[in-house]
Amino acid sequence: MNFLIKTIGCQMNICESEKLGFALLAYGASKASSFVAADIIILNACCVRSQAEQKAFSYLGRLEEFKLEKSNVKIVVVGCMAERLGTKLKQRFKSVDLIIGAKETDSIALKIVNLYGNNTLKRKKINVVFDVVKYVIVMRGCNNYCSYCIVPFVRGNEKSFSARDIINECILAAENGTKEIILLGQNVNSYLYKNVNFTLLIKKIVSIKNIERVRFMTNHPKDLSDDLINVMATESKVCSHIHLPMQSASNKILKAMNRKYTYEHYLGLISKLRVAIPDINITTDIIVGFPGETEKDFEETLKAIKNIRFGWLYVFKYSHRPRTKIAEMIDDVTLVEKKRRHSIILKESNKISIEIASSMIGSLQTVLVEKVDKGIIEARTESGRKVFINGGNEKYLGLQFNVCIKEAKINSLFGCIV
Ligand code: SAH
Ligand code: SF4
Repeated sequence: MNFLIKTIGCQMNICESEKLGFALLAYGASKASSFVAADIIILNACCVRSQAEQKAFSYLGRLEEFKLEKSNVKIVVVGCMAERLGTKLKQRFKSVDLIIGAKETDSIALKIVNLYGNNTLKRKKINVVFDVVKYVIVMRGCNNYCSYCIVPFVRGNEKSFSARDIINECILAAENGTKEIILLGQNVNSYLYKNVNFTLLIKKIVSIKNIERVRFMTNHPKDLSDDLINVMATESKVCSHIHLPMQSASNKILKAMNRKYTYEHYLGLISKLRVAIPDINITTDIIVGFPGETEKDFEETLKAIKNIRFGWLYVFKYSHRPRTKIAEMIDDVTLVEKKRRHSIILKESNKISIEIASSMIGSLQTVLVEKVDKGIIEARTESGRKVFINGGNEKYLGLQFNVCIKEAKINSLFGCIV
């Protein structure tokens, strides 16, 4: 059985696809090198924003056409979108053979293997190849019910995974070449397993032999603790980068979003972070065109972006998601207006981001090498910026060293080894 997994979604989806891939390999299946070579095509798709979902629909459309040519190929849909739409997906895309929602966490691989007829497969021990950087999921679901967000409905209530299991996963990765761990969860700040909270979990992970860097995301401004800021400031292995979604700077909109903090509280966190960790890179998420967002509300957000100067940000045009609280209201900002606000924010944040990057020219930065491709080293600064360096080979992989930054572009820096 040859399988192919297509992921349309966030880092969490990518991580889950990787896990599913390993589980299928252990069942004796093989990875297909192309669409045509696949017996089973698995789509893992997100439904948080309608744009991502549209992308997934068009991919399924292509699969429908492909199945007309190769009728014995099996099509499986997993993840958030599968959870949201369930059997409705089958009505729209007749060729889908199996739907497994994001709330189903057990035996996904077995269900897929059974679809193929597992009697032909033999379980095997696989050698997992670890990357320099490894994502580790620490929790699933969310209890926050931001009024625009579908995550709590498709992923269920927040559940923290066992600290022991997480640490064992990190140890295994470290023993096999991983240098950096990125902890993932919808709101890592509320991680709690028995008596282990998130700061304690980080302290345990930084003490693992061979782990040189630890990052985490995403943080919620209502839950970011002084304790965590303190750990970031004192543990040298915890990277000086934090993703702290602001969403809006208008208190009226934040309240309507049910974010449970004010802009003043958010600003307070920014100053605490900058006092404790002077070189910290703060990044964020913004939603424009939320129902009821006036020009004045939007201007407040734009002004905040100019004042705070995020390292970079992700800006999204609001889209109604079924079952969410705000979907009961009228989506009153027109698409034209959403696009205008989106492009103003993007332009401003790109300008700031390039200014910050340019200010790094001439400085020395410690980078960790994540990849070497055709003599070009791809590394990352502690602050999370990508750095390209000419003239490397495989032996640089996983090493940390100082580079002098020579050139800055919007998404990357260029440097040379000193
Ligand atoms: N748990 C994370 C975010 C998960 S979703 C957090 O709270 O920060 C990632 C981002 O998608 C959110 O931060 C938000 O900016 C955006 N988003 C979520 N629902 C959306 C919607 N209905 N329309 C537009 N953007 C949305
Ligand atoms: Fe969605 Fe809010 Fe939970 Fe983030 S914190 S996943 S935006 S409900």
